[in-house]
Amino acid sequence: MTDAPLKLFNSLTRRHEVFAPVHPGEARVYTCGPTVYNYQHIGNMRAYVFADTLGRTLQWKGYKLTHVVNITDVGHLTSDADEGEDKMERMAAREGKSAWDIARFYQEDFEADLARLNVQPKQHPRATEYVEAMIDWGKSIADKHCYELESGLYFDVSTVADYGRLARAVTEDGEGRIDSVDGKRNAADFAIWRKTPAGETRQMEWDSPWGRGAPGWHLECSVMGEALLGFPFDIHTGGIDHREIHHPNEIAQNQAFCCTNGLDDPRNSGAKLWMHNNFLVERSGKMSKSSGEFLRLQLLVDKGYHPLAYRLMCLQAHYRSELEFSWEGLGAALTRLKRMVMAVDMLKACLPGAGRDPEALGPGLRRGDDWGKLQPMLDKFDAAIADDLNTAVALTALDDVLAAKKVDPEQKAGLAAAMDSVLGLDLFNLTRADLRIRPKAATITEAEIDAALARRKEARAAKDFAASDAIRDELAAQGVDVMDGDPLGWEWKLG
Ligand code: AMP
Ligand code: ZN
Repeated sequence: MTDAPLKLFNSLTRRHEVFAPVHPGEARVYTCGPTVYNYQHIGNMRAYVFADTLGRTLQWKGYKLTHVVNITDVGHLTSDADEGEDKMERMAAREGKSAWDIARFYQEDFEADLARLNVQPKQHPRATEYVEAMIDWGKSIADKHCYELESGLYFDVSTVADYGRLARAVTEDGEGRIDSVDGKRNAADFAIWRKTPAGETRQMEWDSPWGRGAPGWHLECSVMGEALLGFPFDIHTGGIDHREIHHPNEIAQNQAFCCTNGLDDPRNSGAKLWMHNNFLVERSGKMSKSSGEFLRLQLLVDKGYHPLAYRLMCLQAHYRSELEFSWEGLGAALTRLKRMVMAVDMLKACLPGAGRDPEALGPGLRRGDDWGKLQPMLDKFDAAIADDLNTAVALTALDDVLAAKKVDPEQKAGLAAAMDSVLGLDLFNLTRADLRIRPKAATITEAEIDAALARRKEARAAKDFAASDAIRDELAAQGVDVMDGDPLGWEWKLG
């Protein structure tokens, strides 16, 4: 039997560490969630695919998982470092809607994208539901760690030990920050509470001991993490940009709240491990939400790519490596996914009736089983996923299982399903038809394509190659490439 110790890279210590849960048998994870003022781009979604794969890996290792992904519906300014306007209020003004409506709309869209990427359900607390708790937190740290300015209550970063250790880039001036708030004691100081400027009214504002206003963005995650998971919890995740400002500030608040000192003991930061996914990058700037047609999951679907091809594309890279987006890369991932779904289809056809039910296969990997010829593949998979989530290698272990010959089909299906419970590609439910998505811009319907292909088959059977070629050309003119002799058995694709 195989059981490689789970090693994860801790951004706080900059080391791989063997996962040792705070509460035996449990794993508690907090992931910084979206600011729901706009659609998420696929780069944002990489952060949640990573966090989901981490959660699934913890489950594979037998831990009972509690996973929180918060919803930021107030407090996040247009700059992470306390500059600019509140993103929610600005979008509300631009769209002529209430900030509350904007938040609900984009939260629903985000959750729909998560489902399309087969991300397991998680807890999604909203920041606006925790404002009272944030005020209480602020009160408990204000005396020792904060000071008031005209614009609000600020956290003095010099009052905690090791401020900025996570970022490892903070200089005397506060690396990369613009200090335009008059009176800040240190450039890196940040708002715990922002007062609504005199004479203005915000759509989202609350009374507090520091005046009517709204909480600072960093405070939200500290408060929701502590309320739902308790300090210290096991793992805190986010995109790599959060390693520089947002998470060092969360850590400083957590230290202040717990009255603890330095970060040589990572538990004083509020979480034992801090993990960060690297960015998805795209050369032409389509990742930016300020560009017209930015890269959303829906755009991929509109162009004919199944969302799970994007999940597979993410899994083919290590989460700590930058991943460059390209349509060719996405196309290659879709082809690989089709191949896997076909292999699973063939496997399902070999199973006795009940075994074809994907639910029955489930993630029910029995550790003590004799896996025979499949054992090395199980070992390879387990070692890869335990090695700081090496999903690229884990995928090849799944390929090996699907290609294995002369093995018991039920065992093979059970193992493939168990591996997929970590990778989340939904291979036992997806069908070939699901993967053939007609691009939105296509002018021809699937029924018309099928009818034309049937006519072409008749023409070829009658050896009327001129007619057959003509039909092929007509389809090509409408953007449909006929795929004769495609090894995967696909009859056509949209060009
Ligand atoms: P936001 O809604 O801006 O707070 O971002 C949501 C999550 O997406 C955060 O964890 C960010 O760090 C992460 N993120 C933002 N841009 C990218 C990107 N291009 N690639 C990967 N993750 C990203
Ligand atoms: Zn956060």
